Amino acid sequence: TEEKSLNFIEQIIEEDLKNGLSQDKLRFRFPPEPNGYLHIGHASSIALNFGLGIDYQAPVNLRFDDTNPAKEEQEFVDAIKRDVEWLGYQWAEERYASDYFQQLYDWAVEFIKNDKAYVDSQTSEEMATQKGTPTTPGTDSPYRNRSVEENLDLFERMKNGEFAEGTHILRAKIDMKSTNMLMRDPIIYRIIHKHHHRTGEKWCIYPMYDWAHGESDYLEQISHSFCTLEFLPHRELYDWFLDQVVDKNLVRPKQREFARRNLSHTVVSKRKLLQLVNEKHVNGWDDPRMSTISGLRRRGYTPASIRNFANTTGIAKRENLIDVSVLEFCIREDLNKTAPRVMAVLDPVKVVITNFPEEKEEWLEAENNQEDENAGFRKVPLSREIFIEREDFMEDAPAKFFRLTLGKEVRLKNAYIIKGESVVKDDEGNITEIHVTYDTDSLSGSGTEASQRKVSGTLHWVSIQHAIEAEIRLYDRLFTDEAPDSHKEKDFLEFVNPDSLKVITGYLEPSLATAQNEDKFQFQRLGYFTVDKDSTAEKLVFNRTVGLKDAWEE
Ligand code: ATP
Ligand code: MG
Ligand code: MG
Repeated sequence: TEEKSLNFIEQIIEEDLKNGLSQDKLRFRFPPEPNGYLHIGHASSIALNFGLGIDYQAPVNLRFDDTNPAKEEQEFVDAIKRDVEWLGYQWAEERYASDYFQQLYDWAVEFIKNDKAYVDSQTSEEMATQKGTPTTPGTDSPYRNRSVEENLDLFERMKNGEFAEGTHILRAKIDMKSTNMLMRDPIIYRIIHKHHHRTGEKWCIYPMYDWAHGESDYLEQISHSFCTLEFLPHRELYDWFLDQVVDKNLVRPKQREFARRNLSHTVVSKRKLLQLVNEKHVNGWDDPRMSTISGLRRRGYTPASIRNFANTTGIAKRENLIDVSVLEFCIREDLNKTAPRVMAVLDPVKVVITNFPEEKEEWLEAENNQEDENAGFRKVPLSREIFIEREDFMEDAPAKFFRLTLGKEVRLKNAYIIKGESVVKDDEGNITEIHVTYDTDSLSGSGTEASQRKVSGTLHWVSIQHAIEAEIRLYDRLFTDEAPDSHKEKDFLEFVNPDSLKVITGYLEPSLATAQNEDKFQFQRLGYFTVDKDSTAEKLVFNRTVGLKDAWEE
């Protein structure tokens, strides 16, 4: 029998199942903080957690880690839900850390009563100096031995909003000499006087991540809580907090860590993405140059391509940088099978077919996608004047130039064989027209002897009088550096590519007139393009998703 090779996360789960955890107790969660939009790194975590949910038929909660009202907003909650759904995943329950504020508070009161927590009233600077270093122990706060009564009184008044931010905090009483700095009496509550998007003004104290996260996992009976590597040293604290509250008859969540997904030529950090938005280096969270899910979507990425990227790059124990070309490969592979192939000219030069009658138009049959036999056919119009790409013509061409030149034949895709005859130039010597003749017997697919003649190449084209003018947005990498946020001396913003967006006018075959937002096409020989949300019936706008690796083979 063939055994599927398990990644280290799956091995952990299999081990737990072997050791007696029953499969119906498996439960996972994806826990974003609603302080920004999800990015491609999150997609890895989403694919991991929801993928495990599918493989083990276990529920996966979407949990908003909304413990800091200074940074969190409903807009981000809505965007995160939209993105997870769009990626094609379904959560079992929508939960919020703020659902547990009362329970967390009640537990904190128990901590105080059990001499496991105290109110510290020093400044943050004073506390920082007592913290010690990884190699020297910390020193106890002068408030560490406050009486239970005084702690209970102060904590309640913190909750009731009697104190200004920064005047008091609640700390767990663990060990100021621990070799793990995070165990040196970590903060569990701080005062914040801000409106919370769900609880409003109800709370003036908010739990810290470490305190809220493990307990939220426990309250939801999450069996495995997967997070990124920077939380490894937090695991001891995660476990300490659980030790204080866990009921032995219930599932005790297990935190395990995996490496962040880093992608080249971009940043995957909500904070940095927010900075790009706020400082207007891009036009919003869904700018097609962004590494956000909504940016990738607008760029033309499909859910399948992103899932495929996340699953094939997988998860690792150590951080590494995946080249953005891997992501581009995934979208090309998907669109190659699904996107209709059409003709568009982005850098036009006029071609006059001199033996084609002036009044005539001929509607030719064109196959929508050779990779998809159900994609069908459409009609494209040919007339006397057409556009081809400027780079598809060369007046003095070398022998190996397989496009149009004078005296040689090429095929017009879906149409006839043409032969270069002469050029018209302006005063500066620029070519303004190319005159050609066509072989009336050479129509593609007509089966005639002339149609089967071997010519040096095939060009895409559009009939000028039928062409639709559209705005085409061409994107380049947002950063010129492979790892813009890895430099100690330089800020990542110094590597923003000033030429990451180029807007041009393109000429499209008329079948594209009815294209709708997010429709995707292969512009033959040019790349994959998708209709942008800025598009209107009067003016179509396309984003280039990705270029073609290879020109078609005819
Ligand atoms: P950011 O720095 O972008 O805000 P974060 O880790 O603070 O990242 P969260 O909203 O807390 O963002 O993340 C939700 C989940 O997604 C967490 O479990 C987190 O570990 C995971 N995650 C975040 N970034 C990545 C990444 N680049 N690769 C893999 N998983 C990630
Ligand atoms: Mg976080
Ligand atoms: Mg963060």
